[in-house]
Amino acid sequence: MPTTMMTQRAGKLIVISGPSGAGKTTLLKRLFEDCPDLRASVSATTRAPRPGEVDGQDYYFLSREEFERRREAGEFLECFEVFSSGTWYGTLESEVAPSLAGGKSIILEIDVKGTMAIHQRYPDAVTIFVHPCSVTDPEQDLAEIERRLRSRGTESEEAIQSRLAVARRELTLSATYQHQVINDDVERAVRQIREIICSPEV
Ligand code: 5GP
Repeated sequence: MPTTMMTQRAGKLIVISGPSGAGKTTLLKRLFEDCPDLRASVSATTRAPRPGEVDGQDYYFLSREEFERRREAGEFLECFEVFSSGTWYGTLESEVAPSLAGGKSIILEIDVKGTMAIHQRYPDAVTIFVHPCSVTDPEQDLAEIERRLRSRGTESEEAIQSRLAVARRELTLSATYQHQVINDDVERAVRQIREIICSPEV
């Protein structure tokens, strides 16, 4: 068959969520080491960079004005004020559409509201929720999230309480995701995510 007649295998859109402190960053770092073909969508945010974070790599760090300008120009697939502190996060269409069109899979690490919006736009998206230690007991998850947030030492008490409140809400919606992963062992969790992503049914 001539190459022009072959249909290119579409890239998969994979959405990963989980409360702050569920260890998603470490998990994804390991996943990308294992799967170099997988792309990460870089989100835009109005929050300040944490020490070591690089603009364009961890996030596009935008001013409120720039974020608003891009929002009004329709550049976001989804965007939300994630913590009720006025911090905005959003997925730029320019991060996602070219990858999928080029047959490359892409991972979005976004919150629950963002996932719902993406799912409406991309019904074939694969959704994965990461729990820190239990799929069935949210209190156990919350205790572990609090322990991890405090040991990270980067958040104020107010930010910790706000993140815990968001985590509680997110955990109640975790069942709306197609797949649940427990991140109490990074290697095992990465293996599980790879199996989900590489499954022929997905
Ligand atoms: P952090 O400030 O710790 O990097 O991220 C906080 C939360 O914002 C994470 O739980 C993450 O899921 C969410 N988030 C990051 N980027 C996006 C995005 O583009 N859209 C949405 N809706 N949430 C995001």
